[in-house]
Amino acid sequence: MKSATISSIKIEDPNTWENKLFLTIDFDWAHDDVLTDTIDLVESLNLCATWFVTHKTPLIQRLSKNSKFELGLHPNFDHLLAGRNQVGTSAQNLIDNLLDIIPNSKCVRGHSLTNSSKLQNFYRSRDITHDANVYIPASANISLKPWQIWNGLIIVPHCWEDDIFCTFKDSGHTEPHIRDLIKKDNLTVVGFHPIHIYLNTETMSRYENTRLIHKDPPQLQKHRFEGYGIRSILCDLC
Ligand SMILES: [Zn+2]
Repeated sequence: MKSATISSIKIEDPNTWENKLFLTIDFDWAHDDVLTDTIDLVESLNLCATWFVTHKTPLIQRLSKNSKFELGLHPNFDHLLAGRNQVGTSAQNLIDNLLDIIPNSKCVRGHSLTNSSKLQNFYRSRDITHDANVYIPASANISLKPWQIWNGLIIVPHCWEDDIFCTFKDSGHTEPHIRDLIKKDNLTVVGFHPIHIYLNTETMSRYENTRLIHKDPPQLQKHRFEGYGIRSILCDLC
């Protein structure tokens, strides 16, 4: 299966985005062992991937050594929106703090997909070229492609995300399998989280019920789903 990284997408050249898979992984503060498990798996599948970083970890160095990988920003604005921000913290500080960890990053996806036109202008001022914040479900049956906004930022929508797949499933609706989404005339960007890969999540209650041990990998592993879950979907991409 052909795969590529988000920042390799060029609007004017459909060959850069048609008929291939764009695997994206949001760190979401995963424990190093949980993250290592995902890195091992993605490397064994020999896929390109864009890793959206939330925090400093020695694993960033490992990721940056793999030429099939790129690192993007995953700023968390949830605390600002909830009014729980520390004094003096701004959205711009949060972004710049991440840029201190991964300088020269070219792409961004906000945690919880938080975005705004002001943030988009700020991203451009920091030389970020690709914005991966838009989610359009595969079941909407809209043929996706990248587009550009007023300041030159390229918007790269995704059509599949592990937690949303499970949430849909919990509500009685099944989104298509990733395998069926990769085709000509279509941009296929999919999103995974290390915790759901580690747990092989099949229902969001498995994730919620294990919240207290998300930072305890040996315990967490005992709760890994044995049937066909998120980990199985990723492994099937080979
Ligand atoms: Zn996130």
